[in-house]
This record gives sequence, C-alpha cells and structure tokens, in this order.
Amino acid sequence: MAGVLSAGTPSAGVPSAETLSDQAFRNLVEKKVRRTIRKHRLFTLKDRIAVAVSGGKDSVVCMYILKKMGYSIRAVTIDPGIGKYSQENLKNLKSICKRYEIALDVISFKEELGMGIRKILSKMRSEGIDYSACMICGILKRYLLNRYAKENSFVAIATGHNLDDEAQAFLMNVFRNDFRLAVRQGPKPGITRSAGFVQRVKPLYNISEQEIIRYSKAMRFPVYYGICPLSTDAYRRQFIAILDGFEKKHPSVKYNILGFQEIMAKGIKSTGHGKSGNGTRVGRCERCGEPSSNSVCKACHIMEKLELHNSSPRKTMRPAN
Ligand SMILES: [Zn+2]
Repeated sequence: MAGVLSAGTPSAGVPSAETLSDQAFRNLVEKKVRRTIRKHRLFTLKDRIAVAVSGGKDSVVCMYILKKMGYSIRAVTIDPGIGKYSQENLKNLKSICKRYEIALDVISFKEELGMGIRKILSKMRSEGIDYSACMICGILKRYLLNRYAKENSFVAIATGHNLDDEAQAFLMNVFRNDFRLAVRQGPKPGITRSAGFVQRVKPLYNISEQEIIRYSKAMRFPVYYGICPLSTDAYRRQFIAILDGFEKKHPSVKYNILGFQEIMAKGIKSTGHGKSGNGTRVGRCERCGEPSSNSVCKACHIMEKLELHNSSPRKTMRPAN
C-alpha cells in the first residue's frame, strides 16, 4: 500500500476533479507536479533545464508549468522533417514560446544528419535494417538532445512523459523480460550517473493523459492531440488498450504499477546491484564519444549505415539567443 501512496493515487490526484472548475483543476495538477519535483529531487530553482518539446500536448503542458513555477528553462525541439506535421508543430511551438516568453531552439535532422526521417527510414530499409520508425527517430532524437544539453551545460532535460506512458513502458518491459530497463525507469531514470549523460527528468510522471488533455484544453494551447503520422507502434497500442480497459474497473491501476516499480528500483539501488557487472555500466562510444553501453552507440550504428557522418561533420550546437 505504501507503494501505491508513494506514486500518488487517484484520490490524492484528480478523478474527483471532474466537478472542479478549470482553475481549481489546473491548481491541482500543478500541485502534483510540484510534489513530484520535490519528492524525487528532480531539480531546483537554480538549475538550468532544457525542456524537450515536440508540439504535442504533453511536452507543452510540461514546459508551461515549469515556466509558471519560476524554473530556469529553455525549450528545445528536434525537427525530424515529417512534412506538414512537423511544420505545424514548429509553428505552434513558436507561437506558444513567444506568448510565454520562453527561448526556443530548433535542431533539425536535416541540418545535423544531412537528411530527414523519411529519407533515413527508406535508406535503412534498403540496407535491410528493419527498425520501426519510432525506434530510429527516438534513438536519433535522444542522441541529438543529449549532445545539445551537454554542449550547452544544462543540468537536466525535462520531457513530457506522463503516467500512462510510464505504466505502459513498465508493462512492456515485463512482457519482454527486460529487467534492466524496468529498474531504470522512473521520474529520474537510470541507476548510476554518468558524466556524459545529461539527466532526464519527467515532471509529469504522476499526471495522467486525460488530466493533461483537460489542462491543455483549458489553457487553449494550440497543440497536436493525435499521434505522429509515421507511428507504427502497434505493440504499444495493445498495452494502451489493456491498461485503459483495466482502469475502467480499477481506477488506480496505473498508479499501482508505478508504485510497484518505485519499490523495486529502491530495493535494487539499496543492494548496490546494478552499479556494475551486470551490463548497466556506461562506457563511451568509440566513434562519437557519447555515453554508450556498447562499443559503438546505436545512433552511430545508424549513422554509419546511412553514411551520415560524412555528410554532416560533428559540430557544436548552440542555442540561438
Ligand atoms: Zn556514437
């Protein structure tokens, strides 16, 4: 039961909030976010935080709340170049950031890697590598974000991952028997800290998707509520359906899953397990020098396959002031 409470329960959160005014509802969500930041020591008011934004509801709500709370943030978006979808997202982000006076940096696949995601995907397929669009996009985005944050001395990268994302990810890790990933999950993921990795943080860890939708609509944010047009993640969609189905009868199921994960991760940390010798040790990629548990990181593996390194030499990404 302690685990359930430690992750936050519906009663500590929002479901009864259907009757609340928009203003009271937003206050409640912000209170939950503040509690997550404090409880998990995500960052302090002194820290410089990069907020990774996509133009979707989650990351925009995350960015807005952190700015409202007075944190020192800068927004960064990675433009994979998905035609109209990416252009709309960028346009929306620029208008939101202007309205709330948040600096926004744009990093594009085309500029950094020499080509957009569609071209990358078709090249990968012609090389016989059958990674899903989401997987490749995710690997390359994480690589560019980490480089950006490291080269610009950010203490952490905040993302819009929410309660639903986290509960789905945990179940998926269980179903794949991926204990290592399951343990590393959480609002401040990872077991050991590595000098090369900029810490990821998830301030919306305790906020459900439905809560974020309501918050975003109440704020009239011009954001995208659908899924990415390139998304083919049918596997994840099965877990969304399972969890949403359970939630109808058992409203705290997603909180329970996070509570279970927290207790498990705490137990593993206290034994010192996971610090070395079981594959969690982070070395450096021999090609790019970024942190990697293999000799060549996944991003470099993809970039080498596509000969992206030659078309775009490594350079420092600097925020436009
Ligand atoms: Zn590398």
